[in-house]
Amino acid sequence: MTATVSRRSWVFMREPDYLGCNGILSAVLDDFQYREGQNRLADAVTRALHEKSILVAEAGTGVGKTYAYLIPTLLNGGRSVISTGTIALQDQLYERDIPLVSRVLGKPLRTALLKGRANYVCLLRYETERTQLRLSPKAREREKRRRLLDSWVEGTISGDLSECPIELNDPIERSQITSTAENCTGRRCPFYERCFVVEARRQALEADLIVTNHHLLLSDWLLRQDGFSQLLPEVDAFILDEAHLLPDLATRMLSESVRQTELEHVLANRAWSALFNAGSDSGVPPWEALEQAFTTLLGHESGQRGQLVCEEWPARLRESMATLATGFKALLERLSETPEDEASRDARRNLERMERILSKAVRIRHPELEPGSPWPWLEWLEGGFVVRLEPVDPGSGLRTLMQVHDAAWVMTSASLSTGGHLSYFRNRMALAECEEIIIQSPFDYAAHALLYTPTTLPDVDAPDYLEAFIALALRLIESNPGGTFLLFTSHRALAMAQARIAGSLGSRPLLVQGHASKYRLLERFQEETPAVLLGSHSFWEGVDVKGLALSLVMIDRLPFASPSDPLVYRRIEALKRMGRDPFRDDQLPKAVLALRQGVGRLVRHESDFGAVVVGDRRLVERSYGSVFLASLPPMTRAQDEHEVAEFLSHHGQMARP
Ligand code: SF4
Repeated sequence: MTATVSRRSWVFMREPDYLGCNGILSAVLDDFQYREGQNRLADAVTRALHEKSILVAEAGTGVGKTYAYLIPTLLNGGRSVISTGTIALQDQLYERDIPLVSRVLGKPLRTALLKGRANYVCLLRYETERTQLRLSPKAREREKRRRLLDSWVEGTISGDLSECPIELNDPIERSQITSTAENCTGRRCPFYERCFVVEARRQALEADLIVTNHHLLLSDWLLRQDGFSQLLPEVDAFILDEAHLLPDLATRMLSESVRQTELEHVLANRAWSALFNAGSDSGVPPWEALEQAFTTLLGHESGQRGQLVCEEWPARLRESMATLATGFKALLERLSETPEDEASRDARRNLERMERILSKAVRIRHPELEPGSPWPWLEWLEGGFVVRLEPVDPGSGLRTLMQVHDAAWVMTSASLSTGGHLSYFRNRMALAECEEIIIQSPFDYAAHALLYTPTTLPDVDAPDYLEAFIALALRLIESNPGGTFLLFTSHRALAMAQARIAGSLGSRPLLVQGHASKYRLLERFQEETPAVLLGSHSFWEGVDVKGLALSLVMIDRLPFASPSDPLVYRRIEALKRMGRDPFRDDQLPKAVLALRQGVGRLVRHESDFGAVVVGDRRLVERSYGSVFLASLPPMTRAQDEHEVAEFLSHHGQMARP
């Protein structure tokens, strides 16, 4: 693998001066700071846009990467897509950053914000469900909320639920008034002409600059590949921010599956079985053989691990899948001779998908011999068995999708590298030829941040570990004039910590993930300083709390993904069979990136200070700990908890308003 790191100076960004000490942006932003790294990133983005090449860029916190890609993108002209991993960043770009840069550059442009359909009220479902809505347990409160919701739905232009005046945190409540691809009736819907999802997509197709998320972007690529439709127009540049989220998301989206319930549905279709039985092609099994094949799959024991890779499939399972695939192919041929309407078109499309997946799954016997090919798995879940085709890495599939576009690609994030290299990200994304750049944060971590790993705590797997970790947390919280995040790697540990901490914090508010929306919890966390927030995965990233409101981040253990997660288990098994070391090649770099995200919550501004405590002794006692340490910002290492307490107390007093 080679990286093309150009040393050429690109003067495009220098004339006129956009990001310099006395540049155009400095005149309009009160808190503008000249950053040499920001200018280097802007140069690299400019070059990638001009050369239509691929740039992988890590820019540490405080570099100002948003302006470093927005200004070149707008100056470059043409059409662009900016994709992010979180809705918060989408909203910030669309509502604040893009209008500002567009104004400063004097470049008016048509912009569109395209979110997933679960973010827009579905008028059909709202109309059908409104009297049944699970709005609130109390009748009076419910009536009030319903009136507010009615009047918002009546007046909204975008239908975007983030603008709704009432909080809709309950997933069931939310799902009652939003659509899915499965329950949306499309053109048959009586509200189609007024539909907010349709309107957002129409605006995106006409815009010069579209802000969207990675999920929709990948959906668009997959839809194009299938030739069904497209969500986004042809563009000249893709800017993928929060790009560290792409490999896992793309792996999930490029994986395909057939569920037991879907097969059941086909076999229960009397019209289809009658049509099938009316023909008598040689080599096509009778309908009863299809039912028998399904029964064989149904009756197979899942075994202890609940997952079987194709090499482990007994002959009768493979034969059953082959029978179903052959039968479905014959059924599709017979259906092609019958009239089709919109409803039957969807059912046929599903049947085609199932036939394709089953046929492919039985053809692949040794996936590692076919680089880039997905691995077939049989998995047993609560809802029944699943036949799954899943890539080990999304790279080769993604490259195929990317090659459809004649565009520049900028993939950026604050944490893409492990041990100072971008190879993990590039390998997973199959980016053999690209330009890469790592720009360190301009913040003075050594002076502003401490890192403490208490070697006096028990081993993380010891029964008394959590108790000891929480006792330490309570002592440090007491000496901390600012706010504290306690970040856990599991919901179980979070629940135990909550039970132990509740009632021990005096007047400090205790906020717990899941008790309100993330947005509301963060709002309270900042308003009610010094608060303590207990969070698991969703608070490890995409959270930006500045100042004294957050000066202590405590992490219970190194964030290795659990092999009990089916996806993690499949990846480990696949890598082993490919002769690779799953720990070195995947689990370790992934955990390093996750820890960097968690640690990255602490210092969000150059005047921020604070301490990070990682309770897991493996960070300093295991040889792999050095990879974590080499990847973290250069914080000063604290020797004991008194040093941490004094540091927090001293800086906290100075920071008090
Ligand atoms: S077209 Fe689909 S999303 Fe739009 S209102 Fe109708 S059912 Fe809802």
